[in-house]
Order: sequence, then C-alpha cells, then structure tokens
Amino acid sequence: MEPLSDCGRIGQTYKERDISDCFYYPSTMSHHAALTQLLSANAQWAKDVERLEPGFFKESAKGQTPQTLWIGCADSRVPESVITGAKPGDIFVNRNVGNQVNLDDDNMLAVLTYAVEHLGVEHVVVCGHTECGAAAACFGASSSFVPGQAPVTIPVDPADAPLNRWLAPLTTLAASLEISSAPANEALPLLIQENVKAQVNNLCRTEVIAKAWANGKSPKGKEVWVHGWVYDVSTGTIRDLGISRGPK
Ligand SMILES: [Zn+2]
Repeated sequence: MEPLSDCGRIGQTYKERDISDCFYYPSTMSHHAALTQLLSANAQWAKDVERLEPGFFKESAKGQTPQTLWIGCADSRVPESVITGAKPGDIFVNRNVGNQVNLDDDNMLAVLTYAVEHLGVEHVVVCGHTECGAAAACFGASSSFVPGQAPVTIPVDPADAPLNRWLAPLTTLAASLEISSAPANEALPLLIQENVKAQVNNLCRTEVIAKAWANGKSPKGKEVWVHGWVYDVSTGTIRDLGISRGPK
C-alpha cells in the first residue's frame, strides 16, 4: 500500500496507523490547494453575506424553519442550495448516491421524521439528475442481472461492499425496465426518471408521510406534499415530473 501523504505519518499504511492520528494534523491542511481555496472562499462569503444582509448569521443561529426537504444525489454538480438560489435555512437535506429512498435506511427515515414532524417541512422533493453516475452504473449492470440474486453493480468491489448493497435496488429497477439493449442516451434518461418515480413511491410508503396524509396535516400542522424533479446538468435547469402527491 502507498504511504500516506495527507493525514498520517509518512510511511505508515492505512492498516498500521491509528485512525485517530487523522485529527491531529491541522497544519497539513494548508498544503492542499483545493481546501485552501474552499476555506478562503468561505471567509469571503461570510463577509459578503454579513455586509449585504447584516445580522443574517445571528438570526440563523436562533433556529431553522425550512419549508422543503430535498432528497438528492450526492453528485458534486447538483448542490441543491446553489442551483435553486436558496439561502442557509431554506432547505433541509438528505443527499446520497443515486437519490435513493430506501425504507430500511435509518439515515433517510431520521431526516424525514425530523424534517416533517419536528421542523414542519411542507414539501419533500426527490431530485434526480441527468448524467447520473449511479444510474449509469446500474444501467450497465442491469444486462447481467439474474432474478433472485443480489446484483453486483460495481464488479471491482466485493459483492457485499457498501456501494453494491446501496445500488442493488436501483440496478434491480433498471433490470425491471428491460432497457439493457437500448442505447445509453435513451435508456439512461428513462432510468433516471423512473428512479425518481420509484423513490417518490417509496416516500409515500413511509409511516411519516402516510401519517401526515391520514391526519390531513403533520404534527406541526402543515400539509405535506411529495414531488419528483430531474435536474439537467447540461443546462442547469430543473424539470418537474408532474407526479406530486399530497393529502386527499
Ligand atoms: Zn447522481
């Protein structure tokens, strides 16, 4: 294994080092140009916001009342607050690989519960995006899908590796669409759209959403709506799939 050059003693390997060492090398941060850029841009941004909107951060520190929960892909090209012109405090977020809503995912369920039942969020948006690497990998793996067997989406990883376990539902969905023989430029947009629809359906099956609809309102007295969108990476625009659902 290559010696560590970032956060550990030079010459140590990942296996040898004590993981806690990672947290004791703040000075090495200055050697990483990308991080230096992020930190200096943050300092400038904080100054600019305070100048344009004095007291914004003081107010922000008092609490949050976002109206929207965004469930999106972890892809770096889809930063929800940037592409929607939102401010800190506007959007509660759960982003993961392939914008999945897995009903056995405690992270997603905890975020959903907190957003709807404690913060009083009114809109839950699942947003997929074009050129999604996760969807592309699942489309690629769908041609070798064997019904009844757990799909291995990323063959270079062990079959039971986190990424393979995480992507299994999306590969299974891709296989169910029977698009493996279609060209990727046709199949991928379809899979991306169907993925959003499937995750909206999953959301509707959660206890949090079902309860809010059965009662007409969430415990915070809000009507709760679920929406499906797709962001186009090549144009910067969002398309509403028109599959919104709310209380009857
Ligand atoms: Zn993606």
